[in-house]
Amino acid sequence: MKILVTGGSGMVGQNIKYIEDKHREHKFVYLSSKDCDLTNRYETMCYFQNGKFDFIIHLAANVGGLYKNMNQGIKMFSDNIKINENVLEACYTYNIERGIFVLSSCIYPENPSKFPMDETMIHESPPHRSNQGYAYAKRMLEMQCRQYNEKYNTEYICLIPVNLYGKYDNFKITESHVIPELMHRLHLGKINDLDKYDIYGTGEPLRQFLYAENFAEIILKVLFDTNNNDTEPMVVCNDEIKIKNLVDILCDVIGINKEKIEYNKNKSNGIMRKTVSNKKLLEKYPNIVFKDLNIGLNEMYNWFIKNYINLRK
Ligand code: NDP
Repeated sequence: MKILVTGGSGMVGQNIKYIEDKHREHKFVYLSSKDCDLTNRYETMCYFQNGKFDFIIHLAANVGGLYKNMNQGIKMFSDNIKINENVLEACYTYNIERGIFVLSSCIYPENPSKFPMDETMIHESPPHRSNQGYAYAKRMLEMQCRQYNEKYNTEYICLIPVNLYGKYDNFKITESHVIPELMHRLHLGKINDLDKYDIYGTGEPLRQFLYAENFAEIILKVLFDTNNNDTEPMVVCNDEIKIKNLVDILCDVIGINKEKIEYNKNKSNGIMRKTVSNKKLLEKYPNIVFKDLNIGLNEMYNWFIKNYINLRK
C-alpha cells in the first residue's frame, strides 16, 4: 500500500516516520507545506493526482496552544476549513477509500452534560470560547468525513486525541502546547538561573496527555485493521492530571527547585476540565499500553537537549 501522511513534517508525522520500519511492506510518503500548500485547491488536486495513494493519514493542520488559539482564531478556522475541504475532495476524486483523520479533544463542549465525555457528545453544545476557530473547523471535519462515508461508502475514520507531547514537538513559546511551552520556558529559566518561574494560570485545570509515539502506533493500528469497518469517531486518551502536578514532574525532569514556581493567576487557565473517555478504544484494542507520563517527559527532555539547535523554537 502507498500511504500519504499529510503533516509529515509535524510532531505526529515524524513519530509515524520513527516507527514506520515496523510496517516495511507499505510505502509512506510524508507531505509538508513545502511539498504542497493544502489550503490551495489546485495544488492539492495536482499533488494527489500525481501521487496515486491507496490510504491517507491526514494530520496537516494549523495547530497551536491556548494563546495562539486566542490570538489567531480567524486564521486557524479558515486554514483548517480549506485544508480539510481540499484534502477530502482530493481523496474522493483520486480513489483513496480508507484513511485516518485527526480531530482533537478541544472540540468538545465547554459545558458538557457529563464527564467523561464520549464520542457521541462532540456536537452537543459550543466548544470553549478560547479555541472556537480551531474547534469548529475540526468539528466540521467530523461532519465532512461522515457525509463522504454515508454517500460514497468510504472509510474515513476520525480519531480524537487529547494533548499530545513528545519528540519533534513545536517548542515556539508563543504558540506551542502546554508541555513543550513549559519545558522550553523552564529549561531557559534554569540556564539563566532564575529565582522564580512564572507559570500562567492557577495550575488547577485538569488535562489528559498522550505520548505522540503512542498516538502514532494507534493511528497505524486502526488504519491497518481493515476488518474493522466502524467509521464512527474514536477518542484516544490517557489518564488525567492537574497542571500543578505536571509542573512538579517537569521540575524533577529538568532539575528545578519546585519552591521557585509561582502561579500567575492573572493569566487565562483556558477550560478547567475536558475529560474524555477511552472506553471505546480499549474495548476494540484491549492490549494498548500507554507510556507513563514521567518516562515520556524524560525521553522528551533528553531529545529536546540533544536536538536543541534544530528544534522548532
Ligand atoms: P504540527 O504543528 O507539529 O504539524 C503540523 C503539520 O501540518 C506540519 O507538517 C505542517 O507543515 C503541516 N501543515 C500546516 N499547514 C499546512 C498547509 N497549508 N499545507 C500543507 N501542510 C500544512 O502538528 P501535530 O503533529 O502536533 O498535530 C497533528 C494533528 O493532530 C493535527 O491535525 C492536530 O490538529 C492534531 N492534534 C494535535 C494535538 C497536539 O497536542 N499537538 C492535540 C490534538 C490533536 P510545515 O512543517 O511545512 O509547516
